Amino acid sequence: MSTETGHPDNLMEKLVSLAKRRGFIFQSSEVYGGVGAVYDYGPLGVELKKNVREAWWSEMVHRRDDIEGLDAGILMHPEVWVASGHVDGFTDPLIECRNCHRRFRADHVEGDQCPTCGVTGQFTEPRNFNLMFKTFMGPVEESTAVVYLRPETAQGIFVNFKNVLDSARQKVPFGIAQVGKAFRNEITPGNFTFRTREFEQMEMQFFVEPGTDEEWFHTWKERRLEWVKSLGIRADRLRLEPHGPDELAHYAKDAVDIEYLFPMGWREFEGIHNRTDFDLSRHQEHSGKKLEYVESHSGKRFVPYVIETSAGLDRTMLVVLADAYHEEEVEGEARTVLRLNPRLAPTKVAVFPLVKKEGMPEMAERIAADLRGRYTTFYDVSGSIGRRYRRQDEAGTPFCVTVDGQSIEDGTVTVRDRDTLEQVRVQADGIADFIRDGIESEPAA
Ligand code: ATP
Repeated sequence: MSTETGHPDNLMEKLVSLAKRRGFIFQSSEVYGGVGAVYDYGPLGVELKKNVREAWWSEMVHRRDDIEGLDAGILMHPEVWVASGHVDGFTDPLIECRNCHRRFRADHVEGDQCPTCGVTGQFTEPRNFNLMFKTFMGPVEESTAVVYLRPETAQGIFVNFKNVLDSARQKVPFGIAQVGKAFRNEITPGNFTFRTREFEQMEMQFFVEPGTDEEWFHTWKERRLEWVKSLGIRADRLRLEPHGPDELAHYAKDAVDIEYLFPMGWREFEGIHNRTDFDLSRHQEHSGKKLEYVESHSGKRFVPYVIETSAGLDRTMLVVLADAYHEEEVEGEARTVLRLNPRLAPTKVAVFPLVKKEGMPEMAERIAADLRGRYTTFYDVSGSIGRRYRRQDEAGTPFCVTVDGQSIEDGTVTVRDRDTLEQVRVQADGIADFIRDGIESEPAA
């Protein structure tokens, strides 16, 4: 156990290995030796990711009448990225060690010693390296057809501000939310899925009247932190970290990060930013189209300010996984368990026949087939019952149902709770309700 973070020792290595073993996360193109900082989500990973995404969408879109959803294209008009400042300014300072030729982000290296080979004083002067991936649109690879893979989802929202405002008949203050892929050619990716070159963002831009922006910034900061806590993340591993004046992005009046105490220390996984009217004004200038709001009762016109909440889906998932990972000893045996919020757990219930005979597999299969319509269900007959439980503990499955000799006689089964390890006998036809109660008694995610 690390005393600094309270996480088990070498947690990141353990997570990488569990993620692969259980089918959460694989390295991209692994059979070819892998490709740098891109990951694939396996059968359990894709479910967990979907559950985190849906929890966010439900909180940000479905439970509110003042936020609309959007799904904009990854490829956009190239002028979007000129207006947003990304073509000129979305750069990191790149330095290279003349000795080992490894490259680093200058702001990630302390002093003049190369972290890889240990040689000092051999860094090149920093040069600005643009993080946007370029590609070509149309059949001719010429410079006029250069387009970018979006490095953030936000710009798709800004350029659709008017479309959504008019079609959804919203009034300021209101927001637009979207979840989607973003791409950054990071110089020093790493720490598993913490910093990758392809990732998903969950962003919401809230359009407000200038002058009310500071209050909305405060409101969103508090609300986002509460949501993260509602996922079951330990409160003492969460903190709000305001940006100092010298850390603020060029467009921001105020910014705060939500940080988690990862195994490598405190790091951001969501940012809340007061972007002022920077983006809408820039798109207004560059497109020549008015992006103002006209208040219907007063006729007052203004370019709204934007309070943005910008979270990484993959990074939030890493927070969820790191926080859920526990090692413990049960009756003299080591147990690894993912104590995931049952609402987020990829598999809600596993069903086992105790042995492969005496009608138990048939009954267990019937139960699994019934449950499948309502809950993600996993049926497993192979290996000792202890091993089957342990596999589900590592997958974070909250409930395991076992059909045993008594089940055949009286129609009851045992349901084992992942966290308390308690087993209770339940009528087989009451399992779905039992599971529903178990999931719904958890804090809402
Ligand atoms: P950093 O300083 O870590 O590079 P940033 O401040 O540039 O991040 P934002 O542009 O504010 O990050 O992006 C918002 C969120 O998107 C981040 O909090 C993070 O969760 C996610 N994110 C950004 N870059 C990456 C990446 N390379 N890999 C995974 N997630 C990312």
